[in-house]
Amino acid sequence: MSEVISIASQKGGVGKTTTAVNLAASLADIGKKVLLLDIDPQSNTTTSLGFTRSDYEFNIYHVLIGNKRLSEVILSTNIKNLKLVPSNIGLVGIEKEFYNPKKKNRELVLKDRLKEVSSRFDFIIIDSPPALGSITINALSASDYIIIPIQCEFFALEGLAQLLNTVSLLKKTINPKLKIKGFLPTMYSGQNNLSKQVLADLKHHFKSKLFYMKKNSKECIVVPRNVKIAESPSFGKPVTTYASTSKGSTAYRDLATVIVRG
Ligand code: ATP
Ligand code: MG
Repeated sequence: MSEVISIASQKGGVGKTTTAVNLAASLADIGKKVLLLDIDPQSNTTTSLGFTRSDYEFNIYHVLIGNKRLSEVILSTNIKNLKLVPSNIGLVGIEKEFYNPKKKNRELVLKDRLKEVSSRFDFIIIDSPPALGSITINALSASDYIIIPIQCEFFALEGLAQLLNTVSLLKKTINPKLKIKGFLPTMYSGQNNLSKQVLADLKHHFKSKLFYMKKNSKECIVVPRNVKIAESPSFGKPVTTYASTSKGSTAYRDLATVIVRG
């Protein structure tokens, strides 16, 4: 069975998609079989891997409404071991479909759909939208773990309590196995005092929930603000192939190494 990890936060622009794409690509580079699932109507993960709308007819929306099986919408990518389930703006319609309170188990639709392919992959990485609506609830209900990217900027920890409450509520109700894999500081700039302060706050409050390459090390994995990371989606590639020796690439490779180590 695969390990399912959602990259989630209701805050916009914190590095969810960047983390999903580059963690998935790094895990695939290590030789793990990875399914990257785009469940955000913005479809940034799909675009980041170079796909345009004309490249695929069906997407995760059709799977969630029951018109297609998951295996029918999986795309091969340019990266060995990495497959993609694309998204599309049409996915906004799912909130309406899921809104009907009479619809039984509407939080568990994605979990149910994943069963079909779960044994084919070591990891399923889910990129979720910046909201705590039914799409993200479906993602978290289907997941073993959540990784929460924290942008090292002003307001970084704002809204975190709400997200953590949602996780603990889901744990108590529909998904008891859900665990926080960790917090990932993103867009860190060593020149910027605010960045340093956010990182210091994270180390103070959530030391055991950061990622460490070496056990007992004080240096946690931090994704730097890195121009190669920002450029790579426009080339349709993860930074790990676009600029494999860049600092951004190294951070995501390190993250993958820690996750495989378990
Ligand atoms: P949304 O909430 O809209 O889905 P997101 O949380 O998925 O956003 P991203 O799309 O990953 O965030 O990142 C937001 C923007 O910041 C993108 O343009 C991305 O290329 C850029 N970015 C992300 N991480 C870095 C980084 N470490 N260095 C430089 N730019 C970055
Ligand atoms: Mg995104």
